[in-house]
Amino acid sequence: MNLIISLFVFITGLIFGSFFNVCIFRIQKGESISYPPSHCTSCNNRLKWYDLIPILSYVFLKGKCRYCKEKISLRYPTVELITGILFYLVYFKYGLAILTIKFIVFISILIIIGMIDFDTTDVYFSTTLTGAIFGVVFILADVYFKNSITTYVLGGIIGGGVIALIIIGSKIIIGTEGMGWGDAEICLVVGLFLGFKLTIVMLMISFVLGGIIGIVLIAMKIKTREDYIPFGPFIVLAAILTTFFGQDIISYYLNMLIR
Ligand SMILES: [Zn+2]
Repeated sequence: MNLIISLFVFITGLIFGSFFNVCIFRIQKGESISYPPSHCTSCNNRLKWYDLIPILSYVFLKGKCRYCKEKISLRYPTVELITGILFYLVYFKYGLAILTIKFIVFISILIIIGMIDFDTTDVYFSTTLTGAIFGVVFILADVYFKNSITTYVLGGIIGGGVIALIIIGSKIIIGTEGMGWGDAEICLVVGLFLGFKLTIVMLMISFVLGGIIGIVLIAMKIKTREDYIPFGPFIVLAAILTTFFGQDIISYYLNMLIR
């Protein structure tokens, strides 16, 4: 039974991943995510259902459009596969519970925001607003179940607030903003989902990741000191890691303190 549910969650993830590809591609072009139906962006031929099977269509078509033979980016099946794996991992960690739905929604929004930021160095307000609305919906669910919501409200304030302080501080001290307001929006959404403690863990991981990868990119001369490196993807990566390991990191840290 568990295997069947696991498989179901994984395949649902693949299908959603396929939809996220459409979202990521169209939101940054300012297009509708529901209309027109899927078509090849090169020859405009409308795609049939059998062209749209996650992963499999890409493999059978050998990564080329059925009609015009234009190459299809490996990125599409990759996003599908990563989404499937992450959906499964959330189920694996949280089981058949509301938390699983909550974190699947959370990670879905993060994937879309992170990939668009990676492509365009822009964070779209429509995407963070959607995230915030879902965050509030799950907070209201907690109200319904009479759980405390203080941590989630605080998480949102701390997440958005810390980044806002960094932006304002660096504007005053070094004259540039360093981070964008979009980063503050993402961290606010993350805070609403993860709550106060895990948001602090997420912020620390994102700074460490951003620092290390930034230094590596500059050292390998892929980027220069003057290039703008979007911070959103690091927040997204940190938030996903925190969803799975945040609680363990906190316990490990507390253990070290007590010893
Ligand atoms: Zn085509």
